[in-house]
Amino acid sequence: MKIVIIGGGIAGLTLANFLQDEQFEVVVNERAIGAVGGGHAFLMHNDGLSVLQELAAEKTSVAQSAPKASRHLKEEVNQQPETSASLPGQLVERFILRRPDGKEVQHLPLDNWRCIKRTELTQFLYDKLRDNTLRDNRKFDRFIYEDDRIVAAAFENGEVEYGDLFVGADGGFSRVRQELWGQTAFIPGRVKEVVGIASNQALAEKYRGTFNKFQRDDSGLAFGMIPSSGDELVWFMQYDPEISDITSVDSPIELEAFCQRLLVEFPPLVKDILNSNDFSTSYIWTTRDFDVLSSFSHKNVVLIGDAAHLALPFTSAGTTNAMLDAQMLATNLKQMDYPQAFESYYKQRSKEVSAHLKLGRALRDVFLMPSALPDEQVQIPLIADKLRSR
Ligand SMILES: Cc1cc2nc3c(=O)[nH]c(=O)nc-3n(C[C@H](O)[C@H](O)[C@H](O)COP(=O)(O)OP(=O)(O)OC[C@H]3O[C@@H](n4cnc5c(N)ncnc54)[C@H](O)[C@@H]3O)c2cc1C
Repeated sequence: MKIVIIGGGIAGLTLANFLQDEQFEVVVNERAIGAVGGGHAFLMHNDGLSVLQELAAEKTSVAQSAPKASRHLKEEVNQQPETSASLPGQLVERFILRRPDGKEVQHLPLDNWRCIKRTELTQFLYDKLRDNTLRDNRKFDRFIYEDDRIVAAAFENGEVEYGDLFVGADGGFSRVRQELWGQTAFIPGRVKEVVGIASNQALAEKYRGTFNKFQRDDSGLAFGMIPSSGDELVWFMQYDPEISDITSVDSPIELEAFCQRLLVEFPPLVKDILNSNDFSTSYIWTTRDFDVLSSFSHKNVVLIGDAAHLALPFTSAGTTNAMLDAQMLATNLKQMDYPQAFESYYKQRSKEVSAHLKLGRALRDVFLMPSALPDEQVQIPLIADKLRSR
């Protein structure tokens, strides 16, 4: 059976890894040429890491027998040795939440969390693929039908890939979803986020293993930072655009001035990070989500990852969910015919992503009205239910 995956991000590459050793022929079609940029880094917890661990253990022999050149042409990737125990990224052992004046609100141990750069994760997944699985420069355009059945995916460059099953793994603005499910009813998340990767050896060493977050208690404004790899620290600023906003998002100078202005009362550490950041690689992310779809599949096409469901970023679960989707769909496809596999995948995954969708909205509401809760009840910006139940 030939499976045509559209989108070579986290979900698409993970699915290809799980399926490639079985009875399937797999082709991943990615619109980018060479490297997938953007995204900066993820915070990932045990559920996602266990998927990576499974792949690392299973696929080490594939990687060793067929080493590939780096996919990332534009960016150096901090690679680690290919052993079954090695995972990309840095361990994050604790979370500290403070007010801008330095007052500590929460200090929690984090059990086996990692901060992983997007480039590291896609490289990790790509390295374990068989040669010629990934075809780049293929931006999905439309499906080709024969007798009411989808038989091929057509790309904007004129190329066509025939197959038996098709997987839409093309992210939050999925063209596959739009073609088969119609226009998505996105719900604005109100909160915006600026993200960046700063280079500062001293701060990266000093704060290694710690996710530090500073958050105001009277309005929606927060700054978080986590050392990622080498001398780099991933940082983000979450803000309520009703406090202040900028319209010109293309000017690095204006973006830096905006961040400095909004964070003027935050501690010197925050300014040091901003001063160590190259704002030409930073961007503003407008958060949004959409209600869980009534099905993740249509005929012989199925959606995974952000294409299937999108939650607000407060739960830090998007990457983990994308990998869990891929793992579950692959398991089902190995055990049953595709209509049952799709149905069972939807039943199991829609429940979990629906819970994350709700949690993301609840955390957003608290972020926007922090004064509604006393300090000790402040919801932490992670998968709060998991941490609370420990
Ligand atoms: C600012 C920000 C911070 C985040 N922080 C976290 C975090 O801390 N932890 C976490 O777990 N998640 C986080 N996320 C969410 C996470 O990035 C996503 O949930 C995750 O990347 C989803 O994986 P995916 O493979 O479904 O989509 P993507 O990773 O977006 O991959 C989709 C792929 O499809 C390709 N594509 C798109 N259109 C086409 C087309 N027409 N044809 C062919 N290919 C196409 C894209 O180039 C891309 O490679 C964050 C997201 C943002 C925006």
